[in-house]
Amino acid sequence: MRRPILVYVLITAVFIAASGLAYYGYSYSRELAIRERALILDTMRELAEEKIMGIEHELIESDNAVFNRIQIYNISKIKDILDWERPAIESVVVLGDDLDIVPGGFFSKRDREKGEIFRKFLLEKVLPRLYLRQIKPDVRGHLHTYSEGRPYLFSYMRRVSRGRTFYIVLEADLVYLVSTMFPQFFGVRSPRLYQVVDEAGDLIYGFDFAQTPSTNVVEMGFLDTVSRWRLRVAQRKAGGLAADNQRQLVDLVLIGSALAVIVAGLVVLLVGLHRERRANELKSEFISNVSHELKTPLSIISMFGELLALGRTKSSAQATEYAEIIWKESVRLARLIDNVLDFAKIERGAEVYEFATGDVADVVCRAVELSSRRLQGADIEVSVRVADDLPPLSIDSNALTLAVLNLLDNAIKYASSGKQIDILVAHSGDQIELSVRDYGPGIPVEEQSRIFERFYRARSVRLKPIRGSGIGLALVKHIAEAHAGDVSVDSEPGQGAVFHLWIPVTSHR
Ligand code: ADP
Repeated sequence: MRRPILVYVLITAVFIAASGLAYYGYSYSRELAIRERALILDTMRELAEEKIMGIEHELIESDNAVFNRIQIYNISKIKDILDWERPAIESVVVLGDDLDIVPGGFFSKRDREKGEIFRKFLLEKVLPRLYLRQIKPDVRGHLHTYSEGRPYLFSYMRRVSRGRTFYIVLEADLVYLVSTMFPQFFGVRSPRLYQVVDEAGDLIYGFDFAQTPSTNVVEMGFLDTVSRWRLRVAQRKAGGLAADNQRQLVDLVLIGSALAVIVAGLVVLLVGLHRERRANELKSEFISNVSHELKTPLSIISMFGELLALGRTKSSAQATEYAEIIWKESVRLARLIDNVLDFAKIERGAEVYEFATGDVADVVCRAVELSSRRLQGADIEVSVRVADDLPPLSIDSNALTLAVLNLLDNAIKYASSGKQIDILVAHSGDQIELSVRDYGPGIPVEEQSRIFERFYRARSVRLKPIRGSGIGLALVKHIAEAHAGDVSVDSEPGQGAVFHLWIPVTSHR
């Protein structure tokens, strides 16, 4: 008793340990993946920041250089500054203290006509939106705005020189920014993909990476220049994040299958243990059944033998009756012992069958003949119908007789109330069907599949004084299978039972 408990405790412990290990393994791999992912995203974020700072630095440097070189006294030099040094600037405007453009203080790379339109736009729409008077001297301010769908970037500064206050407004060349500066910063061969988008998410520059899941994209806005645009960075397709997900999946599959193997092993072990325990229970039940079965005829034989030996018979007819009882019981005993011995041989796996060409009809007749006294005793009528087109078969006649004897024996034991047994041997298709029908109490449906198990006895008979060992039908099944056939039962409680034994015609061995 102690050993099974120990085994169950051990199995539970192995299961808990395996589950714990699997959980630990999985959460470790998950955490690792999350950490790696966070690291990759952090790196991408740093990179985005670096790129934005680089671009803004260059733009602001370029602005500052222009701011520093323009003096209210040398307005005429603006053209030189723009043409040769600062391609990132499209227009320069110098305003006096009264916020009017000083003479010669407007310059744009546009042609004359477009320049005039821009000048008007600047005066009417842009200047009112710049905090020119509020801004401290020498501090750069900026305005990133849209007009009629076109983006503009203005930077401006208040300057004081020799006591005179003036203002410089620069218009950035955004075409130059997008077509020349961005490609310099966002290398085409980089392991990352870059995008610059506007507030609506429309692409300003870069590759479309719509397929990339948004969780793998880092987004950051520009601060001091094109502040209505945002930079987006994504990992290239075969990059770390996709590989990460794949590795996590592989980890999950490996851990899952290892756990499944362990659980399957434990389940097989548990089922095995359960079967062993059940088999042990059945075996001890079997031993007590068989001993009981042996004891009853033996005590009858010994009792009537003693009566005969002591001459305690009233007449010779009574003596014959006693001798007949002894004979019947010894036949019964011999059959039981045969059954047990055959069963034991089969259990050992010994080759017990001897096949030869034989006739199933002969087998049936012999079994009926051997049971005739018991049939008479139970007052049961037997009808035998054998089809006359039976082909010769390769069979073990003795084994098959034993099978039919067992079926008849059961019908006599359990179905004597029906008073009738029908035996039918038919040829259907490529099979010979031998059926034994009785009109007894039948077998409950839930037990019909179990009665062919060794040592199994139906619940209803266990309580009755009907003798049995539970190996009869197991033996029948074994014999049927040895002939490459099968056995089955049809029964409805109260309606009797029909046992079918099928043997294929082609079962020549
Ligand atoms: P045993 O007869 O020694 O118990 P068997 O293997 O021959 O063992 O039969 C198994 C069980 O099947 C029996 O215990 C009985 O409950 C049931 N059984 C077999 N044949 C019949 C039948 N003809 N009618 C009702 N029950 C039957």
